[in-house]
Amino acid sequence: MTDEAKHPDIQSIRKEIDELDAELLRLLGERRKRSVTAARAKEVEADWFRDSAREQRMLAARIQSGQDHGLDAHYVTSIFLDVLDDSVRVQREYYQERANKDAGLVRLAYQGIEGSYSHLAAQDYFSRKDASVSYRGYTQFRDAVESVEKGKADLAVLPIENTTSGGINEVYDLLLGAQLSIVGEVKLKIDHCLLGLPGASIADIRTIYCHPQTVLQCSDFLAEHPGCKIEYFADTALSGRKIHEDGDPTQAAIASAEAARLFDLDVLQSSIANQQQNFTRFLVAARKAIHVDPRIPCKTSIVMMTGNESGALIEALLVFRDAGINLTKLESRPILENPWEEMFYLDFEGNLTDDNVQAALDGVTRRARFIKVLGSYPSADLPARSSTTTASSAVTSASTPGADASEAAAKFIPAPEKGKKSGYRLASRDYKSMDTLIQVKGVTLGGSELVVIAGPCAVESAEQILACAREVKQNGGHILRGGCFKPRTSPYSFQGHGYEGLEMLVAAGRQYGLPVVTEVLSPDDVAQVAETADILQIGARNMQNFTLLSEVGRVHRPVMLKRGMSSSLDELLQAAEYILAGGNQQVFLCERGIRTFETATRNTLDLSAIPVLRSRTHLPVIVDPSHAAGKRDLVPTLALAAKTVGAHAVMVEIHPDPETALSDGPQSLEFSQFKALMSELVPQPEGESR
Ligand code: PEP
Ligand code: MN
Repeated sequence: MTDEAKHPDIQSIRKEIDELDAELLRLLGERRKRSVTAARAKEVEADWFRDSAREQRMLAARIQSGQDHGLDAHYVTSIFLDVLDDSVRVQREYYQERANKDAGLVRLAYQGIEGSYSHLAAQDYFSRKDASVSYRGYTQFRDAVESVEKGKADLAVLPIENTTSGGINEVYDLLLGAQLSIVGEVKLKIDHCLLGLPGASIADIRTIYCHPQTVLQCSDFLAEHPGCKIEYFADTALSGRKIHEDGDPTQAAIASAEAARLFDLDVLQSSIANQQQNFTRFLVAARKAIHVDPRIPCKTSIVMMTGNESGALIEALLVFRDAGINLTKLESRPILENPWEEMFYLDFEGNLTDDNVQAALDGVTRRARFIKVLGSYPSADLPARSSTTTASSAVTSASTPGADASEAAAKFIPAPEKGKKSGYRLASRDYKSMDTLIQVKGVTLGGSELVVIAGPCAVESAEQILACAREVKQNGGHILRGGCFKPRTSPYSFQGHGYEGLEMLVAAGRQYGLPVVTEVLSPDDVAQVAETADILQIGARNMQNFTLLSEVGRVHRPVMLKRGMSSSLDELLQAAEYILAGGNQQVFLCERGIRTFETATRNTLDLSAIPVLRSRTHLPVIVDPSHAAGKRDLVPTLALAAKTVGAHAVMVEIHPDPETALSDGPQSLEFSQFKALMSELVPQPEGESR
């Protein structure tokens, strides 16, 4: 008998199976629609929409009816648990979309091309959302991030960690500087496949194109094929496209099955990662923070830099334990340009609107040098299905109904208590009784040692700033100053050399081992100046430029805030509060003279400001006698007076040839005057050479 004769109706059986599957899919689709209707119906109940008790009853009933159809309990349970999870996800999306009404087309940016894992993750993120999406792939992560920052895209989907190969450093480093909020996460199961030309066989493969992360994740498989040369490729899907285009059957790529479909390739072997459970977590970032419905399990991510004294990290972490918050991730990244210093990235369970999250962030702020809230977003993990974990326990800590999360993200710190008129809290001694110490490249500001900051008013040339740096170093000065962006009263005066000047300043500082400080004038320049300058200066004319203050509050560099010419000390402290509230805890204040009717000096140096400020704030306080006096001969006396009244640092202007200076020549010290001043200001022990 022939095979056909034995199975005469195999074709028709297959057809029936196809029809049954189509019916199953139609029913699953119908069921999903009902989940949304159910979410709408449940809206009136302020309760969580996962009703575990009902789920348990339902499962028992399904198992029962499954038996009538000859299906065992295990099979029915596994199918219906997936169906239930889908229903919960659908309902969650419904609530989340309601909380953040968004209409129209969503423009999504990702790194890679169609078929890459980022693209798959982005599709997964929208699979249950009611939105039309246009996807745009970029070659670099930085470009995807920038497209959202600049408003060319609404969201970016970025891989942040993989369960086998770990964190994606470049994305962590980008998040630190990006002006974005995290609004979601996706966990994607990664199934790496070996792809080849149609008809190719593994035995013929000589070259495998793959992404460096993929090489790590599939190292066991690659070790089993020592005859294959590995060629690194920037993007998994692109490697698939390459072998498709080359048409060489000895080439293979490691990518998704989706990429095989897109580029007409065969899956030569699937599941080739070392671990079967290979997941990548992706973050979804937007320009504005979102409000997370308090019924939805939520995660919050922050970045912080703790002090570099021993135990500082532990202290900060204990704050979370004390607030009863579960940390889900702690990752550290070195700080560029500051060897052996680390930034810590933390994810924890909780919503920015929760009281315990507010309390924890407040506690961290007291202990950290820098803190940045990256955002609160719905967790990709579903609450447990077991009936013992009731869904309501996931939201017991939720509070402040209706509180605006985007507000909270920007200013997570509570406003000053009622009745307190000062208008600042983080800057006050009540908040922190101990003096704040600011450390920059081995120099400590705010301690008992007087720090000297010196340099020209403006960076004029490489030679000029190098000469000044040498002078500062030789005489025991600690920090090099130099203006690159100059705030000049007249638009016709020298405005500074901008970024070219900054390069000269940074190079001079490096050559002589001195940290550098320079003024930023525009919010747009803050991030770029902060890349290389060690300290950012906010000048007197900008003390109440609130956009600029908020901007420097977001970077991790210390900020020198100069007192406005007509500002009160409380106004100065409120300006500092803007920076602190933005997350940057490294602020020091500078008294530089206030507007005067006296003509003998440019301004009047308010020496009493120093003890008053020191009693009101924990922040370091310094004095700039140069801009106060306006005349070089008065500067040394005032500098010594500043030390006497308790200034933590003195900043003076110097110039190799003050007569030819492009700005503030009359108040700049000759090198010989600076040398004489230094011997009085910071006397060196006998016999010690500088
Ligand atoms: C300066 O220090 O370069 C400066 C411009 O000072 P002020 O903002 O105090 O005038
Ligand atoms: Mn000046």
